[in-house]
Amino acid sequence: MKHIMGNPIRHARAHVTRNEDLIFERGSPGKSGVDLPPLDVPAIASSSALGTEFVRSEIEGFPELSELEVIRHFTRLSTWNFGLDTGLYPLGSCTMKYNPRINEVVARLEGLATDHPYAPESLVQGCLKILAETARCLAEITGMDAVSLQPAAGAQGELTGILMIRACLAERGDPRKYILVPDSAHGTNPASVTISGYTVKNIKSNERGCVDLSELKRTMNEEVAGLMLTNPNTLGIFETQIREISDLIHSKGGLLYMDGANMNALVGIARPKEFGVDVMHLNLHKTFTTPHGGGGPGSGPVAVRAFLEPYLPSPALEQRPDGTYHLNYDRPKSVGRVRAFYGNFGMAVRALAYTLANGPEGLRQTTEDAVLNSNYVKSRLKDLYDLPYDAPSMHEVVFSDRRQATRGVRTGDIAKRLIDYGFHPYTTSFPLIVSGALMIEPTESASKQELDAFIEALRSIAREAEEQPETVLKAPYTTRVSRLDEAAAARKPVLRWKP
Ligand SMILES: *Cc1c(COP(=O)(O)O)cnc(C)c1O
Repeated sequence: MKHIMGNPIRHARAHVTRNEDLIFERGSPGKSGVDLPPLDVPAIASSSALGTEFVRSEIEGFPELSELEVIRHFTRLSTWNFGLDTGLYPLGSCTMKYNPRINEVVARLEGLATDHPYAPESLVQGCLKILAETARCLAEITGMDAVSLQPAAGAQGELTGILMIRACLAERGDPRKYILVPDSAHGTNPASVTISGYTVKNIKSNERGCVDLSELKRTMNEEVAGLMLTNPNTLGIFETQIREISDLIHSKGGLLYMDGANMNALVGIARPKEFGVDVMHLNLHKTFTTPHGGGGPGSGPVAVRAFLEPYLPSPALEQRPDGTYHLNYDRPKSVGRVRAFYGNFGMAVRALAYTLANGPEGLRQTTEDAVLNSNYVKSRLKDLYDLPYDAPSMHEVVFSDRRQATRGVRTGDIAKRLIDYGFHPYTTSFPLIVSGALMIEPTESASKQELDAFIEALRSIAREAEEQPETVLKAPYTTRVSRLDEAAAARKPVLRWKP
């Protein structure tokens, strides 16, 4: 039953509403969104061709609505989404930054949006050049020697990179057994290692939240193929001993993989090759403003040092001496193909548009603003929220709910209450090495006014948790549904409407 100020309403509704019937519950018999011309073939033909048992005369509960009703129904539903274009989306480790509209304009240009991946190379030299330019920019930003744009996600870039490490070491005669992964790593890291046929060896972080060098010395040996490191790590802290770490790994014949999903903290400032990284991936759908979320197309290019180039996925994009581009499939050492064609072309177009529009100065400022914003959030909240690792923040900051937990309020409760204040929740309960983590990544897109509003919201929630924890524990109040059974929603989703 829908109410506005206590009055039941049937015929009128606010334009923005958080209530909406299912489309099956709307409409009335006989309504239709289209006017079909009269049937001009014998009606019997289809049923006799298929057999009457296969031809439905009725679909039970089929919604019957006008075109306008359908448009309004779905448009209203679309207003329930919270997106980057609605407000601050400070999900840590996800880099939910603004996707400039110019990227979309460029990606939709005739000849870019409409070219076919099977078109002959001679007809798509422009598209191939865009791919080559994107790869060149990413090589320059990371300092690396070669890039493949083929992987379609960060996790797939990881898998590709670890497979390359395996192929390279196997050719040296010993692929080895283990890959070291710090306990702060993103969950995709151990998964990629395992799928690549390696066994994960966890290494503990020290009290500063960084790789513990003495633990690394103990663990690194000739059975270890390499270290998979996120830098800055998932606590948003830069591994200041990265050179010692890479020297140690290399001295035992291992390779250093960097999870570059956190490049938002480094672009224009530090190049991973210079601190010893051999292979890494980037997330174009994070750092390079290609759309992100909802399972849409992603892009997780891999970047490598020259000695790993032969192992990059096939085909490789190459330039001939006459300046034309072609895809080279004759790559005997390649780990093979990881994705159809040459990856998600549209993502490369958007990332290149973003990179060129910013230029080196703009990219550097972007990084500086992202780091400044997270440090601002940190300094304005650390009197109310526990900060387990108080090292200088890079692009994100991780608090814990330790103080609020004494009142029974956990990170998930604070996140849900934040929705009532108009913000998308931060990342809850990750990284796992912080119990009750609140992981906040404001990105460079947030203005000071917006950050102040966000900070005031979290300060207000901290006061509520102290004075009236029930308010926080029952939040959110402003959404269509409030507390869902999250386990049942994930394990027993009801995806089908039945009459
Ligand atoms: C997002 C992320 C990944 C995985 O990227 P996907 O594109 O989601 O597969 C890996 N590592 C870190 C640190 C990330 O933040």
